[in-house]
Amino acid sequence: MVSDTRVGCTGLRGGMTTTTIDELLGRHGRDPTRLIQILRDLVLAQNRITPGDLTAIAAGLELPRARVQGVAEFYAFLGSGPRGRYHVLFSDNITDVMAGSGALRQRLLDAFDLKLGAVTPDGRLSVGLTSCTGLCDQGPALLVNWVPIPRLTPARIGAISALIRAEVPLAEWPENLFPIHAHIERRDLLLATPLVPGQALATAFAVGPDAALATLAASDLRGRGGAAFPAAQKLAACRATEGARVIVMNADEGEPGTFKDRVLLSEYADLVLEGMTLAAFLVGAHEGFIYLRGEYPFLIPHLEAVLAERRRQGLLGPHIAPLGGYAFDLQIHVGAGAYVCGEESALIEALEGKRGIPRNRPPYPVTHGYLGRPTAVNNVETLAALSLIVQHGAAWWRSRGTPRSTGTKLHSVSGDVARPGVYELPLGTSVQEILDLAGATHTHAVQVGGPSGTLLAANEFHRRVAFEDLPSAGALMVFDSSRDILQIVSNFARFFAHESCGFCTPCRVGTTLVAQMMDRLTTDRGTRRDVKDLARVAHLMRTSSQCGLGHTAGNPIRDALEKFRPAFAQVASLHEFLPMFDLDASLAPAREVTGREDDEAHLGQEGP
Ligand code: SF4
Repeated sequence: MVSDTRVGCTGLRGGMTTTTIDELLGRHGRDPTRLIQILRDLVLAQNRITPGDLTAIAAGLELPRARVQGVAEFYAFLGSGPRGRYHVLFSDNITDVMAGSGALRQRLLDAFDLKLGAVTPDGRLSVGLTSCTGLCDQGPALLVNWVPIPRLTPARIGAISALIRAEVPLAEWPENLFPIHAHIERRDLLLATPLVPGQALATAFAVGPDAALATLAASDLRGRGGAAFPAAQKLAACRATEGARVIVMNADEGEPGTFKDRVLLSEYADLVLEGMTLAAFLVGAHEGFIYLRGEYPFLIPHLEAVLAERRRQGLLGPHIAPLGGYAFDLQIHVGAGAYVCGEESALIEALEGKRGIPRNRPPYPVTHGYLGRPTAVNNVETLAALSLIVQHGAAWWRSRGTPRSTGTKLHSVSGDVARPGVYELPLGTSVQEILDLAGATHTHAVQVGGPSGTLLAANEFHRRVAFEDLPSAGALMVFDSSRDILQIVSNFARFFAHESCGFCTPCRVGTTLVAQMMDRLTTDRGTRRDVKDLARVAHLMRTSSQCGLGHTAGNPIRDALEKFRPAFAQVASLHEFLPMFDLDASLAPAREVTGREDDEAHLGQEGP
C-alpha cells in the first residue's frame, strides 16, 4: 500500500487556521490528560505556542502554569523555538546522512540564504533537524509542518523550494512528493497468514481467557519492543489485579533504524487491532490507547477508518459480538517527538498529559500504570502476533525460531543494502543471512537493534538475532567499507544527548560529554584522553542511569572501542590533552582593563 501522508495534518495542510483556546479545550473535553494533544493541535493551527496561550490553557485545565510550560518545552514538536510558516525538519538519522541529507539540507538553506535553526526575515521558512522520521528505508526524508516527504533528491528539494517561495499551501503540493511505500521484502507467519476479522476474538471467547493465556504462555511469545518480557506473564499479571484495567499499544517506535511498526499499522491494522482487543479481553480491560509516534500522524486517517469499520462490524465498542458482548474501545494519542516515551512508564506519563520522564519502578505499570490503574503496555508487533497465536496455537508459533526464541521477528533493514525494507524471518536467523537477503556487499559493520543495540564487526556476522545471542527490537542498519565508524558513533552520541530527558545526572551529563568528545574526535580535535574518558563515561551511564535510555546510551561507544579500536587510535594519536577553551583569549578583557600587554600578562597553558 502507498499512503497519502498529508491527510493526517489537517491544520497546516489546509493552510493556517485560527482557533481560540476555549474552542480547543472544549474539543478535548477540558481533560488535563489530553494536554499534549491540545498543544499539538495548537501548533498545527497557529504554528507556535505563545506565553499567553500557556497561561490560558493552564487556567482552562486548572493546572499549574509551570506544568503546562514544562510539557510544552519537553517535547521537540511543541518547543518554543523559532518557526517559519513552513517549518522543515531534516532527519538526522545516520542512514539519511549517508544518503546525502546534509547536502540536500544545505541546498534548501542556500536557496533562502538561511542558517540552520533560523527563520527567514519574512517568517516564511525555518529549517532544523529531527532525530529520525521512521523512513530509513526511503530516506533522505524531511518533515514539513510535520508532514513527511521521503526519497529526497536535488530535484525534489528544488521543487520544494519553489513551492515555499510561492507560498503554495501544503494541501496543494503535488501528490508525487508524499507517498510512503511499505517495502515488505519477506513475509512469514505474521505477514503471510490471513486474518478474518473477529475470528481470533471468537476463538478466545470460545476457550475462555485462562485457556487463551495458557496457549500464549506455551508459545513463549516475548515482547517485540526490545525488553523481551513474556507476553502471557505480563497480561496475566495485569489480569490478576483489582481495578479498571487499561491496555496500551506502544506505537512509539523511535529507535533510529526502526520502521516495522509503521508498516504493520499501515498494512496490517486489522491484525494489530484484533490483537489489542484480544489483549483487553484477556486482562479484563474496557479502555485502551494507541500511543502513536509523533512522526506518524499520516497514519491517523487510515487507523480511524479501520477503527470505524471494526465498530461497524461489532468488533469494537460497547458490545463486541465475537466476545459475547464484551465492551472495549480505544482512542489514539499522538506523541510529540520524545524518544524516551518508548519506555513504558514514560509513555504512561505522556498519556496522562505530562512530561515523558520515566517513573521509578516498582511499582510496575501492570499494577500502577495509567492514572494509577493496572496497565498492560504492549508493542505493535507483539499484539499482531498475539491474535494469530491464539487462533492457530502455540505449536504453530513454535514451528519457527529456536527453543529459547520462538516465532518470527520483523526486521527493519536500512543503510548500505540493495533492498531496504521489512523482513519477517524466524528468530535465530544469522546477520549474514539477512545481509544476503537484502543485497548487502562489502559490509564493514552492522548495528543490530538501533543505536541502543549492538554494533557488530565483520567477524561477528555469523551471530544470530535471537534472545540468547543478539536481542533486537527490529532495526538492522548496514554500513559498508566506505563508512567512517567514528562518524556513525558520533551520530548515535548526538542522538542520545538530544533525547535524554535530563532527569538523572549520569545520563544528562554523560550523553552530552560523550557527544562532545565524539565531535572532537571526528573533527581532528580529539585526544588520547578523550578515548579513555569515553570508556569511563559509557560505563558510568550504563551502571548509574535511571532508565533504559541511559543504560544503553554508551553501547555504541563500548562496541566501537572494543571492535574498531584502530579508528580511535588514528585520530587521537597526536595529543594526550587539548584545552577546551583558549585561556589566553579569555583573559583579554582583564588585560584590557589593566592596560597590560607585556609577555608576562599572557598565559600559556598545558594539560595535566
Ligand atoms: Fe531521563 Fe536518561 Fe535518566 Fe532515563 S536515564 S530518566 S532518559 S535522564
